[in-house]
Amino acid sequence: MPELPEVEIVRRGLSVALAGRTLERVEIRDGRLTAPADPDAVAHDLHGAAVTAVGRRGKYLVLELDGGAALVCHLRMTGWFHHVAEPSERPHLRALFGLDDGSWLLYSDQRRFGTMRLLAAREQDGYWRGRLGPEPLAPEWTPAALGQALRGRRAPIKALLLDQRIVAGVGNIYADEALWEARIHPLAVGGDLGAVRVRRLHGAVVTVLERGIESGGATIDSYRRVDGAAGAMQNRFNVFDRSGEPCPRCGAEIVKIRVAQRGTHLCPRCARRR
Ligand SMILES: [Zn+2]
Repeated sequence: MPELPEVEIVRRGLSVALAGRTLERVEIRDGRLTAPADPDAVAHDLHGAAVTAVGRRGKYLVLELDGGAALVCHLRMTGWFHHVAEPSERPHLRALFGLDDGSWLLYSDQRRFGTMRLLAAREQDGYWRGRLGPEPLAPEWTPAALGQALRGRRAPIKALLLDQRIVAGVGNIYADEALWEARIHPLAVGGDLGAVRVRRLHGAVVTVLERGIESGGATIDSYRRVDGAAGAMQNRFNVFDRSGEPCPRCGAEIVKIRVAQRGTHLCPRCARRR
């Protein structure tokens, strides 16, 4: 599933393709995409709208429209926006957007978990409230803010990092990479981390997310950039998807366990359980 770095790369591609463009034709073929809203009603409302900017909150893409509405998109497992000169039929094509420069934005989604919500200006604050915590790459997100969010929490730190209300945008890949970077065991109780380890974890989350963006994201299954190119972060993983291989730091064998129902990769020598 695309995480913050992958979604940020998609945002940048969409921004080039869409900012300042008008949606001249909109076709939404899959009602699951816009549910509970009717897909034809959403397409009708989008028709003729101009995209003023493309933003991101956590793993959500936010297409800001003239008039203040926003189309909030989540790619979930296999959603993919592809910017092309000409539309063409393809498997799993769920939505098409014809732009006023003659190009097209196609949305395909094999697993059909992706979502698009059209929100009026007045609905947007309420939509985000309680759904997403701070943006990890924003200056407001500090070690103190992370420590505050973890206080009293008895869940494993890996599970807490996956909780979008603790910090937005971190998923399975970047949680494992950050915990390895910070030498913290994924099963460590979140509220038991002292200030030193919280600071290390905070720095590690920022480092691995920035590394992911710099690498163009991680292409493991279906993630592609808007221009169709794959990312390269998968070549830079230290622990994720590396079980059985030597830890790049100490040479011990990387192991895979389950935490919060997710496959979790760690070096048992670098990150000992206390
Ligand atoms: Zn190690």
